[in-house]
Amino acid sequence: MMYKSTRDASVSVPSAQAITQGISRDGGLFVPASIPALTADELAGLIPKNYVERANAVLSKFLTDFTEEEVRSCTAAAYTADKFGSDHTAPLRELYEGVHILELWHGPTCAFKDMALQILPHLMRVSAGKTAGGREIVILVATSGDTGKAALEGFRDAEHTRILVFYPEQGVSPMQKLQMTTQEGENVAVCAIRGNFDDAQNGVKEIFTDPAVARRLAAHGMMFSSANSINWGRLVPQVVYYVSAYCDLLKDGKLGAGEPFNVVVPTGNFGNILAAYYAKKMGLPIGRLICASNRNKVLTDFMETGVYDRRREFHPTTSPSMDILISSNLERLLFDLSGQDDRLIADLMGQLSRDGVYTVPEQMKKALQAGFAGGWCDDGQTAGTIRETYEKYGYLCDTHTAVGVHVYEEYRARTGDTTPTVIASTANPYKFSQSVAEALGAETDGLDEFEKVEALHSLTGCAIPAPLAAIQGKSPRFTAVCDREDMRCAVYEQLHIGE
Ligand SMILES: *Cc1c(COP(=O)(O)O)cnc(C)c1O
Repeated sequence: MMYKSTRDASVSVPSAQAITQGISRDGGLFVPASIPALTADELAGLIPKNYVERANAVLSKFLTDFTEEEVRSCTAAAYTADKFGSDHTAPLRELYEGVHILELWHGPTCAFKDMALQILPHLMRVSAGKTAGGREIVILVATSGDTGKAALEGFRDAEHTRILVFYPEQGVSPMQKLQMTTQEGENVAVCAIRGNFDDAQNGVKEIFTDPAVARRLAAHGMMFSSANSINWGRLVPQVVYYVSAYCDLLKDGKLGAGEPFNVVVPTGNFGNILAAYYAKKMGLPIGRLICASNRNKVLTDFMETGVYDRRREFHPTTSPSMDILISSNLERLLFDLSGQDDRLIADLMGQLSRDGVYTVPEQMKKALQAGFAGGWCDDGQTAGTIRETYEKYGYLCDTHTAVGVHVYEEYRARTGDTTPTVIASTANPYKFSQSVAEALGAETDGLDEFEKVEALHSLTGCAIPAPLAAIQGKSPRFTAVCDREDMRCAVYEQLHIGE
């Protein structure tokens, strides 16, 4: 299995290189030349298996330059009961008949990013052994909150690796900020930037693809890689939990073999929902992919009109990990929907960065609308959904998951489609205690972050995840803030390779 660039289909590299390099030199994203199939028999064979074994089956189809042993060593190190609280790495909870919540936040940082970022350092270690020639890997991350912490935790004290995280100073929740600024480890650094997530992401992309920066790193025996979902090593582990969810639905008798189910994903950068799309291409009987957005509804509009237009006001919301106007992974979907038309994709992405807008050809829009549905809700509706879901079903969801639940209910009412459904739950509610507690009617004025956690706990009795409780009382290690233009300097400074 070789990997192409979405902007130059003549590029052909094995997965190890796609993972260490992170992004193709032409600015395109690495994608598998074709999506491997999981046959009905193979899927049936996975039903009695645990998460690690299901992960081995999926990953070995994509990482064909890894030995079986290498794949196994990665999955076994990543998905331990120690890190995920039990052997139920990604459990399903039935909300009501036919509607299931796929909890993806049982990892060490309490958001779904752990599902990929607990294994990425291991995939990177094996990949670097094959391709990096002994160079130190420098991981640069732009985060809207959850990726940064999950990457720091995954890569902390990993050998031959350093990690540097940029986050928007005003764009993350207080708990997310505390999680990052108190990060432990000898090879980690965190820096706030004055700007929003798109500024951080664009800044990182520019540094990443700047040949002068690459030369300076090389001169010091270093090379960049990425832990953002532009990295193929972030996406492929996400395919696993959709396969695993399907197996669990069959195992629990909630679905018959081959019977379709819909998938709802609270979406920002389009990585998580793209993984579901790939799972469908592998052979899972997924019906609709329902893309849920908050008020930054650039994707909802795109699905309706075929016009991707980021020239709009940016709205900070109570679901900050989805406050994104440039969904990088959409590029991979468009590459696929266009029949791997690299020229078209390079052109559309050029238009996006130059003009802030592009329109896809009519056929692509049709293909998009055939597979996907989109919807959005505002903060008021998100809060209402948290309250209703708790009151009706006794289920406490975080703000991002609530966007998914809201958009699903609206989709179901609008279309009458009652196909069994899996809604991805992307974060634990205690990561967003203030918004969740307020949605339930609590007063949080004047409370500090941990008093808000306590308020939510006394209101609901839901367990507080141990990793969040453990932050209380730690003092921040990283307090630097820089302008977007100074990100390059911050990188040089952290790596001690400035002039
Ligand atoms: C990152 C994140 C999302 C968005 O996922 P994408 O893969 O970027 O679309 C949604 N919810 C939470 C809690 C997240 O951390």
